[in-house]
Amino acid sequence: MFDDAHLYLLEVAVPVPLRQSFSYLHTCNVEVGARVEVKFAGRTLIAITLSCKLITQDELPEFKLSPVLQVLDTASLFSGDLLALLRWGSDYYQHPIGEVFQTALPVGLRQAETLENLSAKFIQKAYSLRTGFDKTEIKSNAKAQLAIADAIEAQSPLLHEHVKALGLKPASLKTLIKKGWVVEETVEPAIAPVIISDDKPILNEEQAVVVDGFDALKGSFSSILIEGVTGSGKTEVYLRCIEQVVNAGKQVLVLVPEIGLTPQTIERFMQRFKCPLAVLHSGLGDTERLQAYLQARSGVARIIIGTRSAIFTPMLAPGLIVLDEEHDLSYKQHDGFRYHARDVAVVRAKQADIPVLMGSATPSFESLNNALQGRYKHFELSQRAANATPPTMRLVDVRRQALTEGLSEPVLSQIATCIAREEQVLLFINRRGFSHSLICHDCGWKSECRHCSAKMTVHLRANHLRCHHCQSIERIPSCCEACKSERLVYQGVGTQRLESFLQELYPSTPVFRIDRDSTKTKTGFEKALEAIHKAKAALLIGTQMLAKGHHLPNVTLVVVLDADGSLASTDYRAHERLGQLITQVSGRAGREEKPGLALIQTHYSDHPLFQTLLYQGYGAMAREELAERELLQLPPFSFQALLRLEDKSEAVASHSLEKMRTYCEQHKLGVFVVGPFPAPLQRRAGYYRYQLLLQAPQRGQLFVALKQLLSVIGEFTSAKQRFSIDVDPQDMA
Ligand code: ADP
Ligand code: ZN
Ligand code: ZN
Repeated sequence: MFDDAHLYLLEVAVPVPLRQSFSYLHTCNVEVGARVEVKFAGRTLIAITLSCKLITQDELPEFKLSPVLQVLDTASLFSGDLLALLRWGSDYYQHPIGEVFQTALPVGLRQAETLENLSAKFIQKAYSLRTGFDKTEIKSNAKAQLAIADAIEAQSPLLHEHVKALGLKPASLKTLIKKGWVVEETVEPAIAPVIISDDKPILNEEQAVVVDGFDALKGSFSSILIEGVTGSGKTEVYLRCIEQVVNAGKQVLVLVPEIGLTPQTIERFMQRFKCPLAVLHSGLGDTERLQAYLQARSGVARIIIGTRSAIFTPMLAPGLIVLDEEHDLSYKQHDGFRYHARDVAVVRAKQADIPVLMGSATPSFESLNNALQGRYKHFELSQRAANATPPTMRLVDVRRQALTEGLSEPVLSQIATCIAREEQVLLFINRRGFSHSLICHDCGWKSECRHCSAKMTVHLRANHLRCHHCQSIERIPSCCEACKSERLVYQGVGTQRLESFLQELYPSTPVFRIDRDSTKTKTGFEKALEAIHKAKAALLIGTQMLAKGHHLPNVTLVVVLDADGSLASTDYRAHERLGQLITQVSGRAGREEKPGLALIQTHYSDHPLFQTLLYQGYGAMAREELAERELLQLPPFSFQALLRLEDKSEAVASHSLEKMRTYCEQHKLGVFVVGPFPAPLQRRAGYYRYQLLLQAPQRGQLFVALKQLLSVIGEFTSAKQRFSIDVDPQDMA
């Protein structure tokens, strides 16, 4: 089958969880980035070509190689910079290359169908008027039909994707086709034209500075951070920058947090830009996803809006990446290929030599540090744009106060006032900070480990307190060690109990509970939001989901319950998260013309974090905390990787990691190793979960150490265990 003139050695990425590529043979050259069908361990799989070279029989390796079954693409499926990005991702996150490529491929392309066929089916449909057709034949009262004819006249042939973008009626289009006035045809996809709406506000000075700064970049690489308070007009700035890029004939990729991708978000883009818009999120069906992917790849979609994984969307002419709410945790993938879309975005922008625009009212410490160090361009928007006044934030000290279902008297009375005014209250429960710790209700004392500077955690089932750092165990005390009070309480309030309590208190006021349980589906969440918009007085009980950039115009009172758990957390990021949460949640209050009030219930009203946050704002608090991180050499002033191992035996799990630790130390890998220590959720589905944290002062050192450790990883883990690596971990769960 093979002779010397026709012997090609391919290196391919196979979608399997193995940290290597595989070799196959073929009789002719295959483009790098093309899909090939191969036999792998008895199965037929679609792989991506990483390299292909002509070899002689003498150069064949010792072991037998299989031939490629079928070549699916005549050209690369990925542009050069996207290929480079995926290779970088595999390397940086130490994740199997086959799985990384799989992430970037919609399901529709994970099968043996050619790109040409799929494109013809999905993105090349277009409409034109029959030659010689006169518009006066359409009845003058058939407005929808006339609109279509006008649109086609203005831009012929009119791409199918434009029908929706221009708000035309598909039913009327069908009628026109039936009458033979409009004909369907197939066209080569190309960069589509964009109509930009004139309906836009005059930028304020701060906004104009950002847009001018963006203009000055002339489309070349730069990372830009906009630190702008809620409602300061960040989105308006994005829209203006997007306008510049779109006018230059380029495409824009907009990333939003999972919860932020609502119809309102999309509507705002559609109002400004009349052009095909590709929307990519986790709720899409395979066909819709493929369609959006092809639209982006071919240039038909000029603006692509998506959640985390959209960062890998191919684009014909990339011009800008926008990341809204850049601090949002949903940008980090929490299993499998654990990439951070923000960091990938910066690398992608650099490789493509385009700007990346990030914005947040509460920037992540990583980005803020980059901005303060001059690695990112840094802009601040300090004023609310549309004349709205910022919320007043106030602490409610609950020490020794009577609490009813977690609510103090001052809070209950503010709720009453708010409801009487026919306005809405948002009660926010900070689940993430829920640390299962024990607290003295009279003085705020918390049980601390005698050996570490860490809080003890309550293990109710075992009926003891445990330190997660040194494993020491103590019995649950019967009274406070500081003031001898017996009123020791566990932290945490239940949303359901709070809901029924409030409903009893206000029988004629609607109560909405917005959490993972009550809004399992995306539409469930949207329906709830819609009902909230329509309601007058209402009580909203929410967790994390409501802290995002939702527009809740009728909310004038925000109550943060349960902020204390985060203050005592052993996670060094807890303060950053709490600061972000309180600021974001408070930002929900009093948009529009109604002034807002945010009340934060706490046992620690004199905690320095609160003092800085309330009186100087998130920015000041973040800068103080950053100084502390630097002192302690914690990220972003050092770099971490978390190794997670799960085994059915607790001893084996911990011992396997212990061996890795010894290896790192014996081979002087230059990393500081912490652990093994149990994961916060120590046992899950019959597996004991242990972790080992590697930390290095430089990214490069950590990278080299991980590579070396992984080259011998088989010595420490077995196939029966679950082992994973999390580079730049965002939490220890
Ligand atoms: P952010 O994204 O920072 O929360 P938005 O861009 O959504 O802020 O702006 C908040 C509100 O202010 C929106 O209703 C927006 O239309 C309005 N807005 C933004 N910029 C201006 C401006 N320059 N003049 C008037 N209104 C503005
Ligand atoms: Zn301890
Ligand atoms: Zn006490």
